[in-house]
Amino acid sequence: MAIYNPKSMKAEEFINHEEILASIEWAEAHKHDVELIDRLLEKARPKPTGKLDGVHCEGLTHREALVLLLCEIPEKNEEIFKLAEEIKMAYYGNRIVMFAPLYLSNYCVNGCLYCPYHLKNKNIARKKLTQEEVKAEVIALQDMGHKRLAIEAGEDPKMNPIEYILECIDTIYSVKHKNGDIRRVNVNIAATTVENYRKLADAGIGTYILFQETYHKESYEHLHPTGPKHDYAYHTEAMDRAMEGGIDDVGLGVLFGLELYKYEFAGLLMHAEHLEAVHGVGPHTISVPRVKKADDIDPDMFDNGISDDLFIKLVACIRIAVPYTGMIMSTRESAEVRAKTLKVGISQISGASRTSVGGYTEEERPHDSEQFDVSDQRTLDEVVGWLMDMGYIPSFCTACYREGRTGDRFMSLLKTGQMINCCHPNALMTLSEFLEDYASEETRETGYQLIEKELANIPKEKVRAIAAENIEAIRNAGGRDFRF
Ligand code: SAM
Repeated sequence: MAIYNPKSMKAEEFINHEEILASIEWAEAHKHDVELIDRLLEKARPKPTGKLDGVHCEGLTHREALVLLLCEIPEKNEEIFKLAEEIKMAYYGNRIVMFAPLYLSNYCVNGCLYCPYHLKNKNIARKKLTQEEVKAEVIALQDMGHKRLAIEAGEDPKMNPIEYILECIDTIYSVKHKNGDIRRVNVNIAATTVENYRKLADAGIGTYILFQETYHKESYEHLHPTGPKHDYAYHTEAMDRAMEGGIDDVGLGVLFGLELYKYEFAGLLMHAEHLEAVHGVGPHTISVPRVKKADDIDPDMFDNGISDDLFIKLVACIRIAVPYTGMIMSTRESAEVRAKTLKVGISQISGASRTSVGGYTEEERPHDSEQFDVSDQRTLDEVVGWLMDMGYIPSFCTACYREGRTGDRFMSLLKTGQMINCCHPNALMTLSEFLEDYASEETRETGYQLIEKELANIPKEKVRAIAAENIEAIRNAGGRDFRF
């Protein structure tokens, strides 16, 4: 039997089955323990660091966070949601970072039971973008206003080798259409070798994202019956190889609905604890996808689906447990669920996504090669307007990574409370670029009212003045790409 050890490099020791079961049992036994819940809420509350406007949040261990997740006391649950909001405001304020996925190829040799790209699916149209097609997709994305992409591909060493992915990254960064500019490419491709991760790091990627799908080894092996993805340890240890290969920012995720949520929640937090223990930095982001209907896939096959209410609580509890980690929500979710989760934890959302290969250059949303049904089908302009109506600042900022503020350097900026003097003006300046180049008249008007109001919230006078000057230059002198 493997022994739990967060510092171990072996999957079954840092994601330890017995420890997860024991944690769930312990949390079930303590879920009505008001005294303990109060202590945990106090522990997780933001506290001033004494340095500038810095606040410090200690977070919670997987065991502690499970107690909050399982708690059924209505007043305590209200406090949990309130604390999640408070932590989110302390670190991320009202900024929401925007991105879009770009599907490069749906050729795949794996047999994942929940994914329509699986090798045996003969219905789906198989496509792989040529470099000319990548260019056309990027132009379409730039014309919407996107600055940050997450590239996606199936796993197929012959059709989509690392050289193909690298070539696509180069192409994406090279396209400059009108004022368009993709400034950060995050990568969501299958687990690979240290050598390949080094190549991705050298190509200037942002975050390397890999969803664990499920932390439950037995279910994992059942859900991935064939292909290289079948190897649980190789998949689970991928982030360590990515970091060894020089990638500073990694993004975790679970595909909720495959296995029991309590198990996944504990596994996810143990993975974050492992990265922190070994590399000194936790995950840059956590994604929370839920299984969706797709070609040849019926989500009802997976009987571990979770309700919207529980899903929102999951997001709040992740927010409290790993306060420094950005949280991503895709268009798999409806506008209503997205709004509720933005409040309690989500800091990054996609907009106007197409999950088909080549989908952005098609007039109509194509379905023949798409990965899953998209619930939120609004345009980027509509999503931006909707966010602003709710009081959020849609941000197209990519500055941290371009200024070398990755890994622990990013975390220290967050912890010293400097985000407000850095991310806040950057969000306003990049929003202004969007308003000038891509927004409808109505969005533009709302946007500039918001910018006016939010400029006043920048604490440092000098930063405020420079931001205002730059926004003026964006509006009236064609200036672009300013950043702190
Ligand atoms: N092929 C890469 C891999 O194996 O990690 C990553 C790319 S895949 C296009 C991105 C993610 O989509 C997967 O990790 C999975 O979690 C998610 N996905 C697959 N099928 C899905 C479905 N039916 N509903 C929702 N998400 C799904």
